[in-house]
Amino acid sequence: MALKDYFKKRDFDVTPEPSGAAKGDARKPGKRLIYVVQKHRASHLHYDFRLEWNGVLLSWAVPKGPSLDPSVKRLAMAVEDHPIDYADFEGVIPEGEYGGGTVMVWDTGTWEPEQADVDAALKKGDLKFTLHGKKLRGSWVLVRTRGFGSSSHSSWLLIKHRDEYTSTRDIAAEEPYSAVSHRLLAGIAQKGGGNVEKAASGDPAIDPAQAKSAEPAKKRAKVAPTARAASTKTRKSASKQGQQRRRSV
Ligand code: MN
Repeated sequence: MALKDYFKKRDFDVTPEPSGAAKGDARKPGKRLIYVVQKHRASHLHYDFRLEWNGVLLSWAVPKGPSLDPSVKRLAMAVEDHPIDYADFEGVIPEGEYGGGTVMVWDTGTWEPEQADVDAALKKGDLKFTLHGKKLRGSWVLVRTRGFGSSSHSSWLLIKHRDEYTSTRDIAAEEPYSAVSHRLLAGIAQKGGGNVEKAASGDPAIDPAQAKSAEPAKKRAKVAPTARAASTKTRKSASKQGQQRRRSV
């Protein structure tokens, strides 16, 4: 069974992750195929890219997350198939368990294959598809690449095809919120009793919402001059931290 590895790695008495009981067989034929990206602050931050196929979620771990720039190839390590209901999972996997850490539904939507024979495309290691997500849209490809040693069969590259959704902006950094709850990783960890500090290390150094709300001239005009000076100072030092952090990555 395709989910054997998924079950083997997890203790469902401990982790709140779906046990896969509600399988994809309840889904109507002709229904659109699920697509989801889960931002996962485990031992390392990564983005789990998942496409529904044959009743499971085919899954790849993308360390740097997707890029909208067609000249950027992002490493995507094939990992075990996940159950369909995993697509809705946002929360905390207890430390010490497989994948222990905080999980965010970073993007969600549907996908369409661009090839008639998806199984053949997967076998060949060249899957072309269109995403209809909240953040990711348009044409993409997952292409298997020669990895190193034991990982030789699991290394793929996730690449954006050139179309109207192509961009050089850093979408992972600029849109760090959950696509379903609009929380950052730290907020999800806090609610789920997880390690907030560890989760926050996967969030941007400056909360874009706070940075934005501090910016508009209208709001700024209402703030007393002393408070304004203080908030400017905070913003500056936060932005300095952000720069240092980016440099160290
Ligand atoms: Mn993961």
